[in-house]
Amino acid sequence: MVTEARFAPGDLVAVLTTQPLDRTLDYKAPEGGVGVGDFVEVPLGPRKVMGVVWGAGAGDFDRAKIKPVLRRMDVPPMTAELRGFLERVADYTITSMPAMLRLATRVPGLGTPPGMRKIYRLGKGQPDRMTEARKRVLDVMADHGGAGFAPTELAQLAGVSSSVVKGLADQGVLVLLQEPRDRPFARMDAHHPGKALSAEQEKASRVLRKAVADRAYQTILLKGVTGSGKTEVYLEAVAECLAQGRQALVLLPEIALTGAFLDRIEERFGAPPAQWHSGVTQAERRRAWGAVADGSAQVVIGARSALFLPFQNLGLVVVDEEHDTSYKQEDGVLYHARDMAVMRAARVGATVVLASATPSLESWANAKAGKYARVDLPHRYGTAVLPAMSAVDLRLDPAEQGAWISPVLHDAIAARLDRGEQSLMFLNRRGYAPLTLCRACGHQIGCSDCDARMVEHRFHQRLICHQCGASRVIPDTCPECGQTGTLAALGPGVERLAEEVIAHYPDARVAILSSDLTDSARRMKSLIEEIAAGGADIIIGTQIVAKGHNFPNLTLVGVIDADLGLQGGDLRAAERSFQLIRQVAGRAGRAERPGEVLVQTHQPLHPVIEAILSEEEEAFWETEARARQEAGAPPYGRMAGVILSGPDLTQLTALSRDMIRQVHLMTTAGAQVFGPAPAPIARVRGQHRIRFLVKGPKGLALQPALKAWRAAVKPPANARIALDIDPQSFF
Ligand code: ADP
Ligand code: ZN
Repeated sequence: MVTEARFAPGDLVAVLTTQPLDRTLDYKAPEGGVGVGDFVEVPLGPRKVMGVVWGAGAGDFDRAKIKPVLRRMDVPPMTAELRGFLERVADYTITSMPAMLRLATRVPGLGTPPGMRKIYRLGKGQPDRMTEARKRVLDVMADHGGAGFAPTELAQLAGVSSSVVKGLADQGVLVLLQEPRDRPFARMDAHHPGKALSAEQEKASRVLRKAVADRAYQTILLKGVTGSGKTEVYLEAVAECLAQGRQALVLLPEIALTGAFLDRIEERFGAPPAQWHSGVTQAERRRAWGAVADGSAQVVIGARSALFLPFQNLGLVVVDEEHDTSYKQEDGVLYHARDMAVMRAARVGATVVLASATPSLESWANAKAGKYARVDLPHRYGTAVLPAMSAVDLRLDPAEQGAWISPVLHDAIAARLDRGEQSLMFLNRRGYAPLTLCRACGHQIGCSDCDARMVEHRFHQRLICHQCGASRVIPDTCPECGQTGTLAALGPGVERLAEEVIAHYPDARVAILSSDLTDSARRMKSLIEEIAAGGADIIIGTQIVAKGHNFPNLTLVGVIDADLGLQGGDLRAAERSFQLIRQVAGRAGRAERPGEVLVQTHQPLHPVIEAILSEEEEAFWETEARARQEAGAPPYGRMAGVILSGPDLTQLTALSRDMIRQVHLMTTAGAQVFGPAPAPIARVRGQHRIRFLVKGPKGLALQPALKAWRAAVKPPANARIALDIDPQSFF
């Protein structure tokens, strides 16, 4: 137990607040004194703000003017471990401490005592009639699995007036209850029996259990093919962590945080876990934060920001689908949750389990180098086998003019329809067509605020910008030349693919899985459940289908355009395509009947396509690793992006010239600077973006050099310089 420094009333203390200041502020300790880590309320100008006592005051200010702390809040103090972690992440990502504190305290009503609250829950009544507004309220209730809502929160989330909510209450559809805030979480049972494990699973789980029981830092890459039972195996590590009396955190990509997963945890340990993600209500957030801080929440299931929760005794962090791109936060604090999980675990002697069928090259390389341990599950659980994969060479077997499915793939679909089995057609493109072109003048319809084409969404009858979400009705006449009837949709999206499938198989039941076609998470969930129960013959989907769903009757996966992700020259393009197509392929043949995967491509000899089809995975990683090594890219070298953004391109260009003038600050430190170049999407929401890429050898002190470089120029008031350590795209 660390004993924190304490300060007597009147002593000067440094308080870190969430206000955008570049330092802590001095205050006088209040009546009763305070300790380092205490949450306090302090006056700042005319306002009261929340802060954390960070240490002794700097004493560089007129003592007579220093104000006292208003009160010590009734919250468990922030541990030395978490304070140190926030400082490390701030240093690593070049983020201010106030921004870090905001990240760690995103919780409503911190420090206000629990008490009672009024909330709505579902009642037994039925609405006399269903309106659009009422439906939205009921969707919100259902999306949150029966959680209670404060009246204003419910109306706000549903986007309806409070009278709609009141109306439903009058009819008994909703009931208003008084409930205590922050109910404790039920105890989870470490010894609750789990599923009987296969020999391979048992062996893997022993390695994980031992690491947790050792109570020393270790990272383990759990690489298991789709359907091998990775979840069952890492839940054994969670069980060990519970038995050790320590807290466990399971991170999932947001979209995978489904009710099915929560049920699985509850079934395994006899009680539901705490949850932390964007779908959680304010009240649940507060309850989870409090229970994590006082140590009573034993298991937390969350999205990336759960990593900044105030754990008292963290023993295990699982990062499921560790290759998933959503672990990188792309605005605000630019951190990678997987890397920061390793950082936090190393500080507290916790185990990290990185689970994936298709790990990131970084994790693969760290395991190879012996920094991480590695455990493999090479077989599917039970009698299921991995699907047979083969290419359809579109140069030899092209689809008909204006169609996207080749005759070979059609035959395979028809065979499935005959046998009453399901087929999945994967195309990673939302909408109807990616390009709307005027046949008369050649004009391509683009977004007025972004350097992006507008994508036709025929279902919504609109053109939509996938960068900023701006939309407009599909015009009859070309906005450029004014001719009527000349606009043509070019290329396929899932909606167009669905049109082709429906025309071809008028009797088949076709389902489309695309995030923009289902307006609530609940409807997406129930659609997925319906499909799993056999409610569709042919499924058409974007990458949403790659995320771990289990369709037992699915025996055919068709990849419509495997070449789609290979262009662009990004060093990660190969890895991304490999991961995505392998994950989608993993949906086939998960039960008794074996699966088949047909991959449509114009370049069957492309090394990435060959790797996707081959059983020789390690060779793919070796090749990728070599390419990265030659490029001096992560994990073999250091890299950062420097992104200048602002509404005025002339000003921004001038700023980039100022930065070039100071570039010696980088080069003398041993870094190479490339650019400036327009960012991959040079304009988003009317903001122009210019980018530098910084590269250097492994030992390079990248952060201090970048800080000095940024400090050496003065951006105009409306421009920003963002620093992105370990950027996810290498453009
Ligand atoms: P992965 O995450 O590796 O794709 P899952 O853990 O989701 O695999 O397991 C795939 C399927 O196999 C799930 O339906 C799971 O319940 C089942 N399964 C895996 N291991 C076992 C086991 N030991 N006993 C019973 N069912 C299992
Ligand atoms: Zn746009």
